[in-house]
Amino acid sequence: MDKKKDIRVLTKEQLRDFFIENGDKAFRGNQVYEWLWNKSAHSFEDMTNISKETRKMLQDNFVINHIEVDTMQRSSDGTVKNAVRLHDGLIVESVLIPTKSRTTACVSSQVGCSLDCKFCATASLKKMRNLNPDEIYDQVAAINKESLLYYNHKLSNIVFMGMGEPLMNYNNVLKAIDKITSPEGLGISAKRITVSTSGIPKMIKKLADDNVKFNLAVSLHSGIDAVRSQIMPFSMAFPLLELKESLEYWYAKTKSRVSYEYIVWDGINDNRAAINALVKFCRYVPCKVNLIEYNPIDKGEFQQAKHQAINDYISILEMNDIIVNVRRSRGKDIDAACGQLANK
Ligand code: SF4
Repeated sequence: MDKKKDIRVLTKEQLRDFFIENGDKAFRGNQVYEWLWNKSAHSFEDMTNISKETRKMLQDNFVINHIEVDTMQRSSDGTVKNAVRLHDGLIVESVLIPTKSRTTACVSSQVGCSLDCKFCATASLKKMRNLNPDEIYDQVAAINKESLLYYNHKLSNIVFMGMGEPLMNYNNVLKAIDKITSPEGLGISAKRITVSTSGIPKMIKKLADDNVKFNLAVSLHSGIDAVRSQIMPFSMAFPLLELKESLEYWYAKTKSRVSYEYIVWDGINDNRAAINALVKFCRYVPCKVNLIEYNPIDKGEFQQAKHQAINDYISILEMNDIIVNVRRSRGKDIDAACGQLANK
């Protein structure tokens, strides 16, 4: 078994120190750092402006635990789904969603998920482990390449809405975002990144304390505790009152509007009481609502609500001056749509 250290756990400073300790110049560390992150080198051999001896020395000391796109599927609507193999053989999925004007990457933060949202295919996969910062970064870098290849422009947006609960892998997600936004990484603005959480109040407050610059989305799906805990049983431990308080804290510190992800299901939240509860919840902090089209999963007991129910949501939210967007499902034919990622 290879016991060599993954070179990408080193900071730039540590890499510079490594070269100084080995009788070389510190700037060699900068060059290697650029290869590892900005140029996404998968092997020391790719580092063509580094001497053969230095590459050999790196090879003797380190490995690069990069991901591999194991299979790539393209949907009839242009959506691309990558099944990504990690260095230990586990698989996660990430998705490229193109629209006329932009491309969005939806990335995973954990292998499987420990939460139990009843409508989500990932919930059926046991959580195996958290993704490392470089594994999250690599998913974005791979999708950026595909965006250039298929759509002729760089990736424009990133959402952490793939497999896993990003705030339960807090440190690694934030480290990955640091690299993604850094000019030495992918140089993508934090304003174009959205972290979507199922709503863990303590961690939302931590984001606010850490003064993060990316956007926050919360999978709300109901403004009524009894209904929400039926859909997302773990939320029994985090009642809506606590969620509300954490969002007020977030807004007070960041002045950044929250997005609520919301699916309307037949017979579950397709009624007037549910709409009124959402309107009430939307009054707590400046926000917008994304109504997401649902994609039934195998054996799923949840079905998309009728058009009329969704239209009722839209008109009542708009009547209350709440911004509402309807998010059509993409990549359904390749199981790449919201809630469908399950390593099939
Ligand atoms: S919706 Fe997100 S948090 Fe809930 S089970 Fe699926 S991956 Fe986990």
